[in-house]
Amino acid sequence: MKNRNLYILSALFLGACAAPTSSLERSSNQIDKTGYLFYQNSDINLHITELKNKLVLPAEEYGVPDYINLLPNAKRDYRSGYHMGVDFSSPMNYPIRAAFDGVVVRSNAHQQDVDIDTYNYFLSLSSQVGKTPDDIYNFILLGKSVVIDHGYNITDKYRAITVYSHLSSITEGMMAGDVVQAGDIIGLSGNTGTSSGALQNDKGAHLHWELFFDDKSGRYFLGQNIPSDLLKINIEQLFQ
Ligand SMILES: [Zn+2]
Repeated sequence: MKNRNLYILSALFLGACAAPTSSLERSSNQIDKTGYLFYQNSDINLHITELKNKLVLPAEEYGVPDYINLLPNAKRDYRSGYHMGVDFSSPMNYPIRAAFDGVVVRSNAHQQDVDIDTYNYFLSLSSQVGKTPDDIYNFILLGKSVVIDHGYNITDKYRAITVYSHLSSITEGMMAGDVVQAGDIIGLSGNTGTSSGALQNDKGAHLHWELFFDDKSGRYFLGQNIPSDLLKINIEQLFQ
């Protein structure tokens, strides 16, 4: 026991005397991420000052939520994944607006929810795989959804898209290729793609909204690698 205590003491002493890490050796979680919309490394990141224009809130009266479970990076154990979006607390059938000018990439107005047994089957597959497979995520869990391409018009650095999901309905006739302006109503919020949608009840309506940034190195989501205490503050600055 005495030897063990000596060992711990010497380890503490050595630790205290270790040379400070240089700034080059600092890991990204020691960098001040105030104002960053995502931060992958010193080359791949986006600061609020690099936006060309600010966005419109997609559910007008509903701002960025406080609760970190509704923000990016929150764990989503039911599908063995994590959140890559913002959950705005809009009620059933609340008008949802394009956050920025763009071109519609996806509009699946005729999507129907699967029944709850099928829904749970897909979740069990996610659990076995240990993550949410892209097909299950995009074609089942997002429900009725609209994807809008914004080109390089939100920022010069990255091509951007926004995703609006769990909609109860999509604006009639809207289809891929349509041009939308910031503030245009693209649909109404709902619960499609959720377990409540599969159960055909009207609980749990909200707008699950995503913003992705693409470049040659990959795809990054709004809030990626941003610490939870800065998420709401940084994301709020994205909007007018
Ligand atoms: Zn969500």
